[in-house]
Amino acid sequence: MAAALRMPPFVPAAAAARSLVARSAARWRAPFGRPAAPRRFQLPSSRPRVPPPRPFYNFASRDAKIQAPEDQSEIIFIGTGTSEGIPRVSCLTNQSKTCKVCSKAIEPGNKNRRLNTSILIRYVNSVGRFNILVDAGKFFYHSALRWFPAYGLRHIDAVIITHSHADAIGGLDDLRDWTNNVQPFIPIYVAQRDFEVMKKTHYYIVDTSVIVPGAAVSELQFNVINEEPFVIHDLKVTPLPVWHGHGYRSLGFRFGDICYISDVSDIPEETYMLLKDCDLLILDALRPDRSSSTHFGLPRALEEVRKIQPRRTLFTGMMHLMDHDEINEELAKLLESEGLDVQLSYDGLRVPPKRFSSNGGLLSVSSRCHATLQRLFQTSLGCVSSQHIMVEKDLKCGFWYSNCLDY
Ligand SMILES: [Zn+2]
Ligand SMILES: [Zn+2]
Repeated sequence: MAAALRMPPFVPAAAAARSLVARSAARWRAPFGRPAAPRRFQLPSSRPRVPPPRPFYNFASRDAKIQAPEDQSEIIFIGTGTSEGIPRVSCLTNQSKTCKVCSKAIEPGNKNRRLNTSILIRYVNSVGRFNILVDAGKFFYHSALRWFPAYGLRHIDAVIITHSHADAIGGLDDLRDWTNNVQPFIPIYVAQRDFEVMKKTHYYIVDTSVIVPGAAVSELQFNVINEEPFVIHDLKVTPLPVWHGHGYRSLGFRFGDICYISDVSDIPEETYMLLKDCDLLILDALRPDRSSSTHFGLPRALEEVRKIQPRRTLFTGMMHLMDHDEINEELAKLLESEGLDVQLSYDGLRVPPKRFSSNGGLLSVSSRCHATLQRLFQTSLGCVSSQHIMVEKDLKCGFWYSNCLDY
């Protein structure tokens, strides 16, 4: 596997590393314009390619008992709460009323403690191991502080953005720690409408020419996506367009048999087609009693589960009215009565997928084929990586590529 990593040399010096990233407008060419600089980098030889996990939380759940081996992909719930986080400060300072859930949430290790909704796909294929983050919200630093060292996560190979609310993109600034100290840059995959928002909220990261020379900001490489599937490190990602309030679009994403929809108030009919044969559904469920104008409540979320019929569902994005243990106890009864396998997720939960691939949904290329494809792409066809081929739907490359799939 070590020989399979064929990438340009890593440039450790920060200044040199930053020079790898094009600062020109060409850098933002959409969609997936060929980058002006190498997009992949060699990991420093001192860094173990597969860092040993160092979990210190002992989750009393079935997922903890079946943690993924080193060579298996998994999903890590980086955050499962609402924008303000659980516990709410206002609940803890309210003298006249005690909030049961927020009071529990301050206890160390309590599953009601929730930060901004986000997952990390720890994806392993024959080429290597990749950490793909979905959203980096306001509390990203705190979430990363809690889970990255605990689970041996070091680099971030891509960030996919669901939408441009602060609890989804507020942590982009904190990615500077990675791009200054771990890796030269981080590719960001974002819809055009959300990129337009970022040009305002994070103008100094989108256009680094405005910063004071020598200042260190996140080095992000923006890739504008539409609602078509795209590929990151051979992992096919299918956007799941949904409504997140009247007239406001958000994206869920499908990875193999796993569907993730974190911010949703309605699902368009055409998106149900993309949710077929879902093994694990991760779905927005804000509160126990009703939906809000921008989020599913638990009753609506359950209706959707009955319609989509995944094998298993984990809810996310819960506010402080959702008591982890109490709600899960109620949800467990649905397994008996209706055969619905539904539970609340929690921060730090790791889920080894039952089956991470489906009909080429999650692509995996053997080392031998990868080498052939790299040569083919780079020399014969002038492509930078397989990712560009897949996105640009080059038929010739697509033919060669599909012949080399493990699945
Ligand atoms: Zn509360
Ligand atoms: Zn939102």
